[in-house]
Amino acid sequence: MGRQAMLDLYENLLKSIADPFFIISDDGTYLDVFGGTERSLYDDAAALKGRNIFDFMEKDFAEFFMNQVHRTLQGSTLNSFEYQLATETVDGIPKNGPGGTQWFEARMFPLESLFDGQRAVTALILNITERKHLQQKLRELSYQDSLTKVPNRRYFFDHLSEQLDMYTRDKVPLVVMILDIDHFKPINDTYGHYAGDQVLRQLVAVIQEAVPKHAIVARFGGDEFILSITGTPLPHAMEIADQLCLSIHRHSFSFGETTLPVTVSIGVSDVTIFDTDTATIVSRADKALYLAKEQGRDRVVYV
Ligand code: GH3
Ligand code: MG
Repeated sequence: MGRQAMLDLYENLLKSIADPFFIISDDGTYLDVFGGTERSLYDDAAALKGRNIFDFMEKDFAEFFMNQVHRTLQGSTLNSFEYQLATETVDGIPKNGPGGTQWFEARMFPLESLFDGQRAVTALILNITERKHLQQKLRELSYQDSLTKVPNRRYFFDHLSEQLDMYTRDKVPLVVMILDIDHFKPINDTYGHYAGDQVLRQLVAVIQEAVPKHAIVARFGGDEFILSITGTPLPHAMEIADQLCLSIHRHSFSFGETTLPVTVSIGVSDVTIFDTDTATIVSRADKALYLAKEQGRDRVVYV
């Protein structure tokens, strides 16, 4: 293959790649623009060639991006970073891509020799929006109980640590409640596991109705739920717990035509100046729950 044919081939290759590929000088000029042919992912950026980033991007974004260009030029290795961009804010190019706010990953590399007499980087841009959405979904799922859709134990403990910090720093009251269904096993045994699942879902709705909006309600496991309430002093939190216990007692849980009698026992604890970790607060609530069961169930006990 002759030299010219080879150059033509390289140019065609660069032009046809799905993701956009820029050569950006240290003053922010887009010295060359290649690729970006996949319209489901990118607007056509060909018109950016020869223009300066400060002329077609909003100032904050241009400054952020040029910081990265300068960082890349100071090193000799790949600099990759992620960012969100409202695509409509890019000035002077056709809006023929996906539109809206998209996530991108830039992979910048310093050019060893000058390009058109200027120091420059190569920047390959990848649309990673789908990956970001999947990651977000996975994060949500890893924090959620699949049956009742409330947060799970992992989520609860992550947030309880933050709430304990708030107490240590600013003395914001913190109350923890563990709630366990009384004699739940017989409900499953008599009406089936599916009926039990229905009760768990209905119970979540009753709990959420009875506690303050900012309370965290999580499934602790099995037929146990755990709640934390911040900013509510203990006497008021105890009233909330008593009311919750009564609301559940009075609520008619149903499975088809059948009404199922459901009560719960609730163990309550609050944070003290001696608590340095979340486990001790939760274990006191657990002890209180045990006492509530022992004293006859369908009641609230504080330890
Ligand atoms: P107690 O008053 O002492 O709490 O009696 P209990 O029968 O509720 O006993 P325990 O709390 O030890 O039993 C929990 C039962 O909850 C055991 C299991 O059959 C049931 N269970 C746990 N997870 C699920 C679930 O996801 N769905 C259903 N339907 N049942 C569950
Ligand atoms: Mg139980």
